[in-house]
This record gives sequence, structure tokens and C-alpha cells, in this order.
Amino acid sequence: MSTASLAPSLSLDQLNVADEDAFVALLDGIYEHSPWIARRAFALRSAGGFASLAALKHAMATVVREAALDEQLGLIRAHPELAGKAMVAKALTAESTNEQNKAGLTNCTPDEFARLQQLNADYNTRFGWPFILAVRGPRGDGLSRQQIIDTFARRLNGHPDIERAECLRNIHRIAEIRLNDKFGVVPTLGNQVWDWAESLARFSDPGFAENGQLTVLYLTKAHRAAAAQLADWMRECGFDEVGIDAVGNVVGVYHGEAHGQTEEPPRLLTGSHYDTVRNGGKYDGRLGIFVPMACVRELKRQGRRLKHGIEVIGFSEEEGQRYKATFLGSSALVGRFDPAWLDQADADGVVLRDLMRDAGLPGTIEAIQALQRDPARYLGFIEVHIEQGPVLNELDLPLGIVTSINGSLRYVGEVRGLASHAGTTPMNRRRDAAAAVAELILYVEERAGAVPEVVGTVGQLQVPNGSINVIPGRCRFSLDLRATTDAARDALDADVRARLAEICERRGVSFTLERTEVAAAAPSDAAWQSRWEAAVETLGLPVHRMPSGAGHDAMKLHQAMPQAMLFQRGLNLGISHNPLEAISNDDTELCVQAFLALLVRL
Ligand SMILES: [Zn+2]
Repeated sequence: MSTASLAPSLSLDQLNVADEDAFVALLDGIYEHSPWIARRAFALRSAGGFASLAALKHAMATVVREAALDEQLGLIRAHPELAGKAMVAKALTAESTNEQNKAGLTNCTPDEFARLQQLNADYNTRFGWPFILAVRGPRGDGLSRQQIIDTFARRLNGHPDIERAECLRNIHRIAEIRLNDKFGVVPTLGNQVWDWAESLARFSDPGFAENGQLTVLYLTKAHRAAAAQLADWMRECGFDEVGIDAVGNVVGVYHGEAHGQTEEPPRLLTGSHYDTVRNGGKYDGRLGIFVPMACVRELKRQGRRLKHGIEVIGFSEEEGQRYKATFLGSSALVGRFDPAWLDQADADGVVLRDLMRDAGLPGTIEAIQALQRDPARYLGFIEVHIEQGPVLNELDLPLGIVTSINGSLRYVGEVRGLASHAGTTPMNRRRDAAAAVAELILYVEERAGAVPEVVGTVGQLQVPNGSINVIPGRCRFSLDLRATTDAARDALDADVRARLAEICERRGVSFTLERTEVAAAAPSDAAWQSRWEAAVETLGLPVHRMPSGAGHDAMKLHQAMPQAMLFQRGLNLGISHNPLEAISNDDTELCVQAFLALLVRL
């Protein structure tokens, strides 16, 4: 419904009726000098053929993922070096020539060319294969030469296993773009979302903006500008009502067909946050606002009304970066905005109530309490989010369905031993606080690793006033425990605390442990989860179910109504809370299509 045509030279129908040799011939050049991939993908073609282009892409990626190591390395080595000898000698395949041209590699300055030659040589020495990068990039229209050189330099430091996988994923991206070209497919909806995300990222807080970094903390100038921009875009999309509420949430409503009648059916609520962590990515949170916006824009363009209204919320605060409270935006909707938060001051002493008033918001608890939604008027809450992890990447899957948002517990602790001379204190007479915590860390790793879907992390570790020649007398640490169910989290918690007590008893040291946060697990609503699953199936993609290790706005809405989330794969190993966070336009297109499929089936 969204794809523009570019004079296709290949169609799914052709591939679905072709015999094996014809099939392989039709896909010639999609994977560089590697016809075995198309040949094995042919064996994965079902009686009805590939259901979609996405299904074909996934089949080919699966063939490569399941191939032997030497076959994978052969595929990587079938690719030319970037701006290498083959490019200079004009000995590349037509596809590679096109890609290297589009990235401007044929117009390198002498310095850039020399730098690329050095990187090629260093990379080959380190890994034994050429550096592979989909130079047409996540938007499909070409990375800049500087982006290419920066990525090259960064990946030179990777672990060989990770780098091999990253090369293969880039090869799949190259194949995806080549297939799009052959099929005449342009991911228009995905491009729209990608472009919104890029454009919204121009608003960033002082101290970060100057360095090209993205930081949008609660109610800063950049934050308010981002909200105004979101509201403008929502109006352009064709939302019927758009506004900014008393906590800074941007709210857009697209009415259902029965709007204005007495028996208006309940609305669907969706959205995610637009604030960011410091030096964060462009898609965390924001993707979950843009995807439903793109759907409404599409519905409006088609002149289509659904039975149910859709309410899309850009939540103003989720990350807890400026004030001690997190989920300020979604808390208000479920009546959990703590009045005491208004008296909190940030690191600069700015009190939340005053900040709100300076931003033109009422800054009163009454106005905030009025935002609470009546669950009876809503079908439920759904949220799209980037995965923020490596799982979908490893499975070559663009989308995953969330089964539960992990419950979590956080502690800060300190072990106290005895600081004594590192030279004169015999090994059997020591009360080493850091060694005790080290033992705890290894236990957390072992205990959490023994159970699926449970994770434990000691992320902060400090020996206050430590010296090279003094046995640590104190060791401070943090503890973060998460699990898909509260029962699994609590079992982990009990074991970890018991082990800490045992370690300290045995080593003759003492400890304190302060719980700083507790969050209940939020299992997805079965009916909404299955709607996401059905939507993903309509795209011809396999359904992959997974827990969410991170907290999301859906966790808050869970306290008021049924909820379920859809994850989209992130590029660069799924890295998030980092400027390297990235998504492709094609994955985003599928995400919007899945959302639309869910909407029209409601
Ligand atoms: Zn987020």
C-alpha cells in the first residue's frame, strides 16, 4: 500500500513460479559471487511460494546464518575492498560499482583515499578478510565518506567473532537494498519515520548540541522545541486533536468512525517517550511515536476511519535523567504521579514545579491528576520500541514480540573489611572488602546465567580512597536484578542476598545493602500479544517472542490497562543509549506495516 514503483525488473510471482536454475539466475548478483545462497533459499520456498519480499530476504539470511564457517568466510571474501584496487581498476561488479559510487568513494580526496588504504591493510591483517559495510546505509541513500571512515576505524577494534557477524549483517543489508532496486520497492513509510527521527534530533541540549550529540532532558528548551515539532507533525499527519498536556506529553487523537455519537467505542492508546539519555540515540522512545503517526498519516491519506479512535502519546519523560523520578509522562496517565515529585530539585537546584511553570505548564498536582485516563474508555495500550539488545540482530529478524517487561530490583551496597598493609598482612589474615564483592559478582553471573530470562549485573564498583599498597577496607557496589516474572526475580534476589551474607560471614567482613528501586514485571496481555503476532505473520515473517530486559512506558500503563509491545531490531549489534543506535528504513517499513495490519484488523 505504500511502495512506490521504480520500474521493477523482478517480481515475487516470477520467483515463486521459477524452477531452481531460473530462481538462482533471477537472484544473480544479490549476494556477491555466491549463487549457493539463492540455491539453498530455493529449498526453503514453500508450496505457496515466498509470502513477501521480507520472507525471501529472511530465507536468504537464514541460509547464510546456518552455513558452515568456511562458507560464511567465503561469502565475506567474495566482496571487494572499499575504495580498493578493484574499484580503482574498475573491476567491480555492476552492483558494487553503483554502491561505491553512491557513497562517493570514487571521489575521495587523496587524504581520504590514503586513509582508506591504510584501514583496508590494517583490517585485513587483523581479521584476514575485507571490511564489509553496506555503504548505502540505513536510509539506503548513501553514507558520507566520513561516516564510512569512522565506522571502519571503530570496527577495526572489534572481536573477530563479532566482526564476522557484523560483516554478514552488512552483506544482508547490501542484498536487501539490491533486492529493493530489482523489485522497484521504496520503503516510503520507513523513510518517513527515519526522516522524522533525523529531523527531531536537531533539537539537543546545550553542552551536547555543540558536539553533535543528542541530549533532550525534561522541559529544557530543546525538549519543548521537540514537543512543538511533534505536535506540528501530528497536525500535518491529519490527527483530529493535538495538544500538549500538563506534564508536557504530546497527545494526538485520530477519531474513529463513530466519533460524536453517544456510544463511542473505546480508543486504542499507544506511544512512547521523546526525552533521551545524555548523548543518546535518535530512536529510543521516538520510534514508538513516529510509527503510529505514520499509520495515521496513511489512514488519513486513504480517507479511512477505523471503528476505534487512536490516541498517540509522545511521553515527555521516561529516562529519569533530570529528576530522581522516572516515567513522569506515563505516571500521570495512570494516576501514579507522586505529588512530592513537584518539590524535587534537579542537580542545578531547579524545582520541578517552577520548571513546569516556566515552561508554560500549570505546575499543579490538580492539573496533573486530571490527566489520569479512565481505563473503561480504552481498549488497551500498545508500544513500539527498538529492541536495545542483540537478539533480533543475531536471528536476522526485523521484528520481535514482547512477552513480558522484566521486573527489577536495584540495590546499592558496601562491604566493610579492614584496610591494612599489602606487604605485611599474610594472605590468611586479610579482611579484603573488594575480594568479597568480587566473589559476589561471580556468583551473580553464575546464578543468573543458570536460569533463562533472568539477568544480574554489578555495574558500579568502587574502593573508596583505595591505594596500590593497601588491602581494600571498603568496597561499594551496585546490584541490578531483573527477570520476566516477579517470582523468578525474587528467587534470584533471595539467593544473591543469602550468598552475600555467607561470603561476608566466611571472610569476617560486614555489609550494608540498600534497596533503591523495585519494579514489578509486566507480562503482555495475551490478546494484545496475539494481535501483534498475527500482524507480524501478515508480513510473511516468523513470530519471535522475547522478554524486554529494559523498562518502558508500557510498564506504567500496565498498571491501568492491558498492554503489549513490539520490538524492532537495532543495527550495530542493537546498541542503544549511545549515538551508534540505528535502525534501517526497511525494518521500519515492516514495523509500520505491522502496526497498520494490527489497526485494520481491530
Ligand atoms: Zn526508551
